[in-house]
Amino acid sequence: MNQALLIRASLAWLHLVALGIGLGGVWGRARALHDSLREPPDARSIRRALVADTWWGIAAGLWIITGLWRLFGGTEKSTAYYLANHAFYAKMALFVAILALEAWPMVTLIKWRTGKAEPHARDVGRIEVISYVECALVITMVLTAVSMARGLGMAAGSKGDLTSDSLSGLGDSIEVAPRESAGDLPVSKPVDHTPASSSTGDVDVLTSEIAMPLAGVDPAKIHDSFNDLRGGGVRRHEALDIMAPRRTPILAAAAGKVLKLFTSKAGGLMVYAADSSERFVLMYAHLDAYADGLRNDQPLQRGQLIGYVGSTGNASPNAPHLHFALARTDNVAEWWKGTPIDPLPILQRAAAIAH
Ligand SMILES: [Zn+2]
Repeated sequence: MNQALLIRASLAWLHLVALGIGLGGVWGRARALHDSLREPPDARSIRRALVADTWWGIAAGLWIITGLWRLFGGTEKSTAYYLANHAFYAKMALFVAILALEAWPMVTLIKWRTGKAEPHARDVGRIEVISYVECALVITMVLTAVSMARGLGMAAGSKGDLTSDSLSGLGDSIEVAPRESAGDLPVSKPVDHTPASSSTGDVDVLTSEIAMPLAGVDPAKIHDSFNDLRGGGVRRHEALDIMAPRRTPILAAAAGKVLKLFTSKAGGLMVYAADSSERFVLMYAHLDAYADGLRNDQPLQRGQLIGYVGSTGNASPNAPHLHFALARTDNVAEWWKGTPIDPLPILQRAAAIAH
């Protein structure tokens, strides 16, 4: 076991242990406070509550330190991965809620410890209830953490701050998805023979094989234009626009083969390719030129040069970009069919795994 792996495993373990200790501590505090309200009063139960409270505090410290280390220390998935993840935000919201709930009990218990105040039955009862609520929130937090680890909750519409947004002038009128043009093209219409919901396993396979089609572009930092409206708001874009200088090399995002080199009024020079599982069609549009010698049915390696970024078709000459679309299909021979899938979350997850 190498050192990085050891640190990562230790942090994950300590993070989890902190949760266990914290849950025990806050639950014990609630029980002890409850006992202290019995007749006759028992001073020991208040002491027990304070001991439990100490464990709750130690756990919180441990949990925060290990959490921050994992978030910013680069020992786990990239920071960008976390920040693009809805489950992460849910977890943080729960954490903030617990902190907010704990503020008053913390101050009150410190007063008891330092003898500045005596435990009043009313305060004892309140802190008992707050403690139980905190227990419930901690348990909910564990659930979101589990769903996060399973890769659920990746943002479907995470907004980056770069590229297309900052290069405005790229309006609806400029980008027209190729498939709309005179029916010549179309990785678009959901086709009934492809049950999109039936299989996520094939997406997992694709995730393990895919990479950004432009070198040096961080998928965590680009705007997800999949759900953007185009054509004056009548349809969704259903693809990813990646802004890049003209002639930037376009690299095959996944191994597989070229299905069709195609030209259309809207998409300009385009490449349709299959992934190696032949469950997906990858489409690249607005190319300035194809790579030398690229031809139909040619096998592709991931990262292989297939062409260059441009603005052919219905793209603004001032905003060259790669229009990259992904569709699930039963039959890659029908490269113009398939169910559109947002490529960005898959690319983001792939990048996070590769870290
Ligand atoms: Zn586009």
